[in-house]
Amino acid sequence: MSKNLTKRSEDYSKWYNELVVKADLAENSGVRGCMVIKPYGYAIWEKMQAELDRMFKETGHQNAYFPLFVPKSMFEAEEKNAEGFAKECAIVTHYRLTNDPENKGKLIVDPNAKLEEELIVRPTSEAIIWSTYKGWVQSYRDLPLLINQWANVVRWEMRTRLFLRTAEFLWQEGHTAHATKQEALSESVQMMNVYADFVENFMAIPVVKGIKTETERFAGADETYCIEALMQDGKALQAGTSHFLGQNFAKAFDVKFSNAEGKLEHVWGTSWGVSTRLMGALVMTHSDDNGLVLPPNLAPIQVVIVPIHRNDEQLEAISAQVNELVKQLRKLKIAVKYDDRTTHKPGWKFNEYELKGVPVRIAIGPNDLENGTYEIARRDTLTKEVVAKDGVVTYIQDLLETIQEEMFTRSLEFRNEHITEVNTFEEFKDVLENKTGFVSAHWDGTVETEEKIKELTKATIRCIPLDRKEEEGQCVLTGSLSKGRVLFAKAY
Ligand code: AMP
Repeated sequence: MSKNLTKRSEDYSKWYNELVVKADLAENSGVRGCMVIKPYGYAIWEKMQAELDRMFKETGHQNAYFPLFVPKSMFEAEEKNAEGFAKECAIVTHYRLTNDPENKGKLIVDPNAKLEEELIVRPTSEAIIWSTYKGWVQSYRDLPLLINQWANVVRWEMRTRLFLRTAEFLWQEGHTAHATKQEALSESVQMMNVYADFVENFMAIPVVKGIKTETERFAGADETYCIEALMQDGKALQAGTSHFLGQNFAKAFDVKFSNAEGKLEHVWGTSWGVSTRLMGALVMTHSDDNGLVLPPNLAPIQVVIVPIHRNDEQLEAISAQVNELVKQLRKLKIAVKYDDRTTHKPGWKFNEYELKGVPVRIAIGPNDLENGTYEIARRDTLTKEVVAKDGVVTYIQDLLETIQEEMFTRSLEFRNEHITEVNTFEEFKDVLENKTGFVSAHWDGTVETEEKIKELTKATIRCIPLDRKEEEGQCVLTGSLSKGRVLFAKAY
């Protein structure tokens, strides 16, 4: 291909990195582990944000904004959370630079500007938010608090990769406070379901809903619900998490309310987040060796129209007809672009929109004009059809829906084909090495076995699926009693 993309079968990882850059989604920056999200990539992220934001508000949440910095003592208050994130923290120790007396034109940290207390750049905001909630909650009438924030966070990751794992990333984090355990639990489950709904219906990516094991649980949570997706190379990706925090943060920050009987109780909490990692999931699930493949619900351009002409006269005639079509499509809120630039050849444009994953491409030339037709091409299947001009608007509207549905169905089939039940450790290793994907196996429930399996195979327990069937068995490694199957996979 003229795009010179590495093939997925040759080197999946290289294909991914090249595609993210070539399709103008993002690029590495001069800052270690941090990326620049380019306009085309950001437009997709904005579409994700808009839909998620709508879903959060529909379920009663409001947006707010809290500081980027967390004083160290505040960060330390919830011990498990602090310990869990300690190794990934960026810390501000000084607030001023000064001229280097020994090196003209250079600056050094001003030793006189040392902060009395270090500030942690938030890796997550439970600490700052729960310290604020203390002032917001007195009585049961103040509950529940249903707050979300759109923000950036910093986690000093050692091995980074565009979108999937960066040192600074964009996300939303929901933080809620409730009067009862049951209510907080329901909230965590509800938000896992909201994420699953979004990822499946907007991103066309099937997910497994489940619970994390103790090892993989969020530091400071009593339970972590998650949605797990499967990428085309057979590796799993954690697509979203929703945590039931128990009373851990309420106790750490002394957040109490007087109940209806006037008795003081600690409140119950949840937190939940999805990040720009979802952009990586989108690319890795659907795209092919020709470039991006975007589901219509998230494509910044859903339909592109390319005129094919030899002279100005032909272009004028084509444009007259196309401008009318554009108007009608826009009325239906379809994002359409008419690319009538004369600076680029049609072949160049075809290539470009294929690389950018535009779901539907319409071409129209002098013959079509005469015959009253359009040539309509699908990006996902790379198929073409000649369609009559009359009724083309409805045709396109239906086609976009069909593409959205079929992209999901294809990913679902692939995912289902890549969940393999095994009963011996030999089979377990064989599936991971040859077939890849999720391995559904019995596990004795101990941290030791989980770690031993990780050491031997690099596979981790992605989740205990919520819909797993009741089935006792023997642990695939130790042979000890198991209460049910869990999903293992190598993961991003
Ligand atoms: P957590 O707070 O650890 O539960 O993570 C919340 C969400 O952010 C999850 O969907 C994670 O998969 C995602 N996430 C965690 N670390 C990173 C990172 N370094 N880059 C991008 N996304 C991340």
